[in-house]
Amino acid sequence: MEVIKTLILTPEEIPVAAELLAQGRVVAFPTETVYGLGANALEPQAVEAIFKAKGRPQDNPLIVHASEESQVEAFVKDIPPEARRLMKQFWPGPLTLVLSKTDLVPAVVTAGLDTVAVRVPNHPVALELLRQTGFPLAAPSANVSGRPSPTRAEHVYADLEGKIPAILDGGETGWGVESTVLDCTVWPFRLLRPGGVTLEELRALVPVEYGKSPGEAEKTPRSPGMKYQHYAPMATVYLVTGKRAAAKILESSEPYMQKKEKVGVMTWNERAHLYPGLTVLSMGSEGDLQALAHNLFHLLREADLLGIKVLFIEGVSEDHLGLAIMNRLRKAANHREIKT
Ligand code: AMP
Ligand code: MG
Repeated sequence: MEVIKTLILTPEEIPVAAELLAQGRVVAFPTETVYGLGANALEPQAVEAIFKAKGRPQDNPLIVHASEESQVEAFVKDIPPEARRLMKQFWPGPLTLVLSKTDLVPAVVTAGLDTVAVRVPNHPVALELLRQTGFPLAAPSANVSGRPSPTRAEHVYADLEGKIPAILDGGETGWGVESTVLDCTVWPFRLLRPGGVTLEELRALVPVEYGKSPGEAEKTPRSPGMKYQHYAPMATVYLVTGKRAAAKILESSEPYMQKKEKVGVMTWNERAHLYPGLTVLSMGSEGDLQALAHNLFHLLREADLLGIKVLFIEGVSEDHLGLAIMNRLRKAANHREIKT
C-alpha cells in the first residue's frame, strides 16, 4: 500500500478534516466511546478505504454516525416506536441501533445486509465534524483490525500512521469501550454487543434479549463482527475469575517467571500488593468500572510496550458496565478463561 503522510489535526482544524472527508478520504476522529475511522457513508469508494486501512474483513459491517436523529431518517425505514424512545433517551450517546436500511446506504457499509447500524455520538469534535461535512460518516474503531480499540490519538497513530491522511486529536475518549449495539429489527430487541449504555438501562425502557437464543449457531452470528478476534495484545492473555484468582495467578505465573519471561497482571490498586514479582497494570480503584472501562484498551496496549509475554487479568462482575468490560476481556483473552 502507498505510504502517505498522516497529519495530526487539532479541534480548530476540523474544517481541514471535513474537506478531506468531502474529497472521499478517511479521517480518524474522537467520539465519546473510542476513536473512529470515518468516511462518507454514502460513497462506496470512500468506505472501501476504511476496510483497506484497517485490514478489516469485508463481511464485518460498519456503524453509521449521524449529527442528529433527523439525519438518520433518510437512510433507515420502519423505525419501531420503541426504537424512537431509545433515540430520545440515549442520543447523542453510546447506543447503536440496527434498523432496516434504505437504498441510500451502499452495500459495502452493511456487508450486504438489509439492515444498517446507526448512532449519534456524544462528543463535541465528532458532532462538529458531522455538522461541517453534512453527510453521515461510516466509522469503525480506528485501530488495525484485531488490535485493541484506540482511546487516544497516539493509539491511532501507532496503528495507522502512513495509511491514513489525518487524525483529529481530541484527547482521551470518555467511555473507553465501544457503543452498545442493539438489533431493533427483531422483537424483543436483541443486544448484539454490550457497551456504554447498559442492559439494565435498556431494559428499564424496552424488552431486550441477550445471550445465545436456542438454535442460534455460533457460525451465523447476528452481528458479524462478533466472530472475529478482537482487542488482542501481543501477550498471551488469561482472564481469571472467582475468589481464588490471586492464588491461581501466582501459581500459573511460576513457570513463566522461571523462564525469565515478563508476566503482567491487571488488577485493582488495592490488590496490587498480592502480586510480588509481577508487572502490575492498575485497573484503578477497586470496583470503579467507569475508570476501568476508560483505561482498558490503553492498558492492553501498555502491556505490549512493557514487553509483557503473559498477561493475567482479574475478571469483574458482569453488572452494568461490567458486562461490556468482560465481553472485551474475553475477546482479548481469546476465551482463555480460568474460573477459580
Ligand atoms: P466497530 O465498528 O468495530 O465498532 O464494530 C461495529 C459492530 O457493529 C460490529 O460488531 C458489527 O458486526 C456490528 N454491526 C454493524 N452493522 C450491523 C448490522 N447491520 N447488523 C448487525 N450488526 C452490525
Ligand atoms: Mg472495532
